[in-house]
Amino acid sequence: MSKLQKQMQEELVEKNVFDQARTYSYEYINGIEKMDVFPSEDNLERLTNFDEPLQNKPYSAEKIIEKLHFFGSPATIAQTGGRYFGFVNGGAIPVSLGAKWLSDVWDQCGGLYLTSPINAKLESVCEDWLKDIFNLPKNTVAGFVSGTSMANLCGLAAARFHLLNNLGWDVNENGMNGAPKLRIIAHDQVHASIKKTLAMLGYGKNSIERMPSDDQGRLIVDELPELDNSSLILLQAGNANTGSFDYFDKVCDLANEVGAWVHIDGAFGLWAAASQPLSHLTKGIEKASSWAVDGHKTLNTPYDSGAILCRYPDALISALQATGEYIIYSEQRDPLLFTPELSKRSRAIELWATMKYLGKEGMNEMITGFHLRAKQLEEALKELNFQILNEVVFNQVLVTCENDEETKQVIQYMQRSGECWLGGTTWKGKAAIRVSVCSWRTTEQDIKQTIDLFKKSRAYKTLT
Ligand SMILES: *Cc1c(COP(=O)(O)O)cnc(C)c1O
Repeated sequence: MSKLQKQMQEELVEKNVFDQARTYSYEYINGIEKMDVFPSEDNLERLTNFDEPLQNKPYSAEKIIEKLHFFGSPATIAQTGGRYFGFVNGGAIPVSLGAKWLSDVWDQCGGLYLTSPINAKLESVCEDWLKDIFNLPKNTVAGFVSGTSMANLCGLAAARFHLLNNLGWDVNENGMNGAPKLRIIAHDQVHASIKKTLAMLGYGKNSIERMPSDDQGRLIVDELPELDNSSLILLQAGNANTGSFDYFDKVCDLANEVGAWVHIDGAFGLWAAASQPLSHLTKGIEKASSWAVDGHKTLNTPYDSGAILCRYPDALISALQATGEYIIYSEQRDPLLFTPELSKRSRAIELWATMKYLGKEGMNEMITGFHLRAKQLEEALKELNFQILNEVVFNQVLVTCENDEETKQVIQYMQRSGECWLGGTTWKGKAAIRVSVCSWRTTEQDIKQTIDLFKKSRAYKTLT
């Protein structure tokens, strides 16, 4: 045994490195409500401690974990606390972290049943549960990927395979050169990840037929052109700014009449289906062909958790397998059939743990809670004469002030306060403050504190 091997063996036996990581983790978790939501300048400055050339000799495991905690933890975003409202990021439910820790120790290669039976089993269970929650057709299959960007890529690859195949073209054999034209129909509010993935699949921006959207960012159904079996329609469950939902029912009916494909990007919004008062927002989603959704946003799993759901198993599997010939349905589930990766983290484990923990009632309570907190903020801000630009149908609130300059100043004040964090955006040409309530930890008190900050931000304006 080499000296290095021996040292690593000892690390496992003594467990110091794990105990230390655990202690620091608890310290972090317990301090999160007191730390700056965005790191201070000083703590960011200290990140230069990582600027060093790689040394020659192996280094102390304990010192590595120590360094990570001392300089790394203070430079994190307090995203798992209750007052982070940036982007649509989501927190992390304790059991999901616990399940991830354990599964990290297992270090399973999630690609095959043979390389991880437990992962294959939990993927099957998650597939069934997701279909149940979203009320999707029986034959729908799920692939577990890193997030919605990847899920969109898989869904659109399946759509491309399926539509071209129906037009007599095997894209796996013949590629894109000379392929029949597909009509890609999206509204102007399509998410950046869709544009990115379309380009990766050979459909540049100019190949998209752009439809107008209404004041909430929904596709205007009457503007939809005549569809046919070469059409791919891109819809959204949860606009990343307004939180609005497209009219799935109507568009899917039109599409299904002619054999077009509807893909729904439901990164955070698809979960509205799990909330009793909000499930009307997802009416008709079950008539689409593919759905992309995140675990790490609304469901509050840790990062690296997304799923592609597809009603045509052959299309998804063929698109991700490069040839149709070796589609072998093994008796047991082989996860790599449904994802681009071969080796992959067994990420369905924490997704399973999170759904199992919450149950349907817990999901209903948590997701409805995001909406109630968003409404609380909306109502208070209206009273303070801030303008709300969106219909708060889900968890997003878009706020503006008198003019763009004032709006930007409020954002700056909030971001520098360290007490909360929210981002800026532009909505239909206007600067706006974008608030996303997306963490299980956000309480009414957190919202009250945020409202107070909005009040104070006005005074800040007069000072600068
Ligand atoms: C976040 C988001 C995405 C991208 O998902 P990732 O998990 O970040 O890859 C796509 N679409 C919408 C609507 C989103 O909110």
